[in-house]
Amino acid sequence: MPTFEQLEILRRELGDILREDEPLADKTAYRTGGEALCYIEPGDLEQLCRAQSLLYELGLEFVVLGGGSNILVVEEGVRERVVLSLRKGFAGLDTVGGDQWSGTVRVESGVKLSRLVRYCTERGFAGLERLAGIPGTVGGAVAMNAGAYGQTIGDCLAALQTVIAGNLGWRGSGTLKRGYRDGGLETQEVVVAAYFICERRNRIELEETVAEITALRRRRLPAGVHAGSVFKNPEGDFAGRLLEKAGCKGMSCGGARVAEKHANVIVAERGVTPSDIMILVERMRNRVYEQFNISLETEIRVLS
Ligand SMILES: Cc1cc2nc3c(=O)[nH]c(=O)nc-3n(C[C@H](O)[C@H](O)[C@H](O)COP(=O)(O)OP(=O)(O)OC[C@H]3O[C@@H](n4cnc5c(N)ncnc54)[C@H](O)[C@@H]3O)c2cc1C
Repeated sequence: MPTFEQLEILRRELGDILREDEPLADKTAYRTGGEALCYIEPGDLEQLCRAQSLLYELGLEFVVLGGGSNILVVEEGVRERVVLSLRKGFAGLDTVGGDQWSGTVRVESGVKLSRLVRYCTERGFAGLERLAGIPGTVGGAVAMNAGAYGQTIGDCLAALQTVIAGNLGWRGSGTLKRGYRDGGLETQEVVVAAYFICERRNRIELEETVAEITALRRRRLPAGVHAGSVFKNPEGDFAGRLLEKAGCKGMSCGGARVAEKHANVIVAERGVTPSDIMILVERMRNRVYEQFNISLETEIRVLS
């Protein structure tokens, strides 16, 4: 937790990009959870570098918040670490190169992934169309190596601009140790922009794929407040299949309920608390472990 002196320095140096006791429930998927003691929301690269180097000098750890679509905040909120939000600003999106076969797109981390998918589809740039419908920002998608229906954001990622300890640097895609739902970033590394090299394809075909994926998602995912898949798929299987076989559909705890439509999704009902969700997550994990001897790993990230 920042000391009183550290807080004074942050207040003095950062002015109004620092907010104290900032509510997080309205910025995260399950719409529940406590506040951030210290919330920094830089609007541009200069402010981000300044904030990050100050945190580095003060020895304060931070956690990045993008669109919050994969995050559950605990009741007590985030008190030990600073929350660094990339929800505002970082909105650039442009075609910066290409030829008759491909196009290179530069996109800043605060842009909604859905906007990037639309931008590419409209220009006949292939490689991201199957990500249609995934909420959140480009920065969050890169950090999570978000994916769906056989495609991940890493597939056509060429390079990143990231900031570590207040310094802007480049990362070739090959230097990232990407994995399943893991973008391979260093801890305390913040994505500010990404470059994608996309193969040129027929625009109509891409639009058809987006429409198909959108319809599939609508059929498979429940309505209501949720954060998509709770658990990662274990090697060679699907978490949803295991959870369904283990009889998790319809299980509930307080305001948290396993969706009837999809056993790997927890729907948050009015009055839900983070503990309701966390208890239900453990019950689901235990059921699968008891029946299949497989310990599921959570995909959602808990902020504390
Ligand atoms: C309805 C629904 C459906 C979903 N479907 C899918 C799906 O099909 N496939 C899938 O992969 N995911 C899915 N998700 C999960 C989520 O949308 C993705 O993980 C998304 O890419 C997260 O982006 P975000 O901006 O919301 O990141 P956040 O939730 O804010 O953060 C996620 C992680 O990324 C880090 N992060 C965020 N921004 C940055 C940055 N600029 N630099 C460094 N680190 C950063 C955070 O610290 C955190 O660890 C779904 C979620 C919902 C609510």
